[in-house]
Amino acid sequence: MKLIFLGPPGAGKGTMAVRVADAASIPHISTGDIFRYNIKNQTELGKKVKAILDSGELVPDELTIELVRDRLGQDDAKSGFILDGFPRTVPQADALSEMAPVDNVINFTLSDEEVVKRLSGRRVHPGSGRTYHILFSPPKVEGKDDETGDDLVQREDDREDAIKNRLRVYREQTEPLIEYYRSRGKLVDLDSSPAPEEVFTSLRKILSL
Ligand code: ADP
Ligand code: ADP
Repeated sequence: MKLIFLGPPGAGKGTMAVRVADAASIPHISTGDIFRYNIKNQTELGKKVKAILDSGELVPDELTIELVRDRLGQDDAKSGFILDGFPRTVPQADALSEMAPVDNVINFTLSDEEVVKRLSGRRVHPGSGRTYHILFSPPKVEGKDDETGDDLVQREDDREDAIKNRLRVYREQTEPLIEYYRSRGKLVDLDSSPAPEEVFTSLRKILSL
């Protein structure tokens, strides 16, 4: 099963990708997580992209496409994968269709108002990428990761000005992919506004899991 999770930042793509990856035994490939891992470990790539991620702009296509090409070339991605956060531009989508054509594109839909609520309350465990929400999905102990007890943090790009910029970037550069995939008969819309359990049930139906 080769899948793309498309949708605005904060729609719940990562949260659902973790669950679907587990249920379908396929890797969850998040370009955002890969960039953040490199930033945390201060690699050459990390140094190049840190300011871009903090501002909410997109990393250049060439760099991102090569990163995904490498990742999809690894053995665990041969029979299936979930791409979460890639492609985000038409050139990225064109490159992907040559590398590894996908079966389905799930289009997570959510209003801007809900996006802002979800992003501003999001907290993450930097070590694992585990994601919480201060109201909708709180950790057992406030501010601490459930499994390790480490401190949770707010992503730099989940602050108010960066959120606005990311929504604008999404509209301008990523939203055209909805028509791109719809016209190719690959798109399935998913209402992401209900509670996580309900969204997951809808996804299982769509994917026959
Ligand atoms: P979210 O889950 O909130 O939508 P991501 O973790 O997917 O955010 O992405 C965080 C940031 O990483 C983006 O704002 C962008 O700077 C960079 N990024 C991630 N994926 C891509 C991509 N496919 N193309 C360009 N930049 C990307
Ligand atoms: P994305 O990967 O699309 O940027 P996330 O999966 O990181 O989105 O979710 C954004 C925030 O919203 C997180 O804090 C997460 O806990 C929360 N969240 C995810 N799905 C739901 C949902 N169905 N209802 C309420 N909150 C959700």
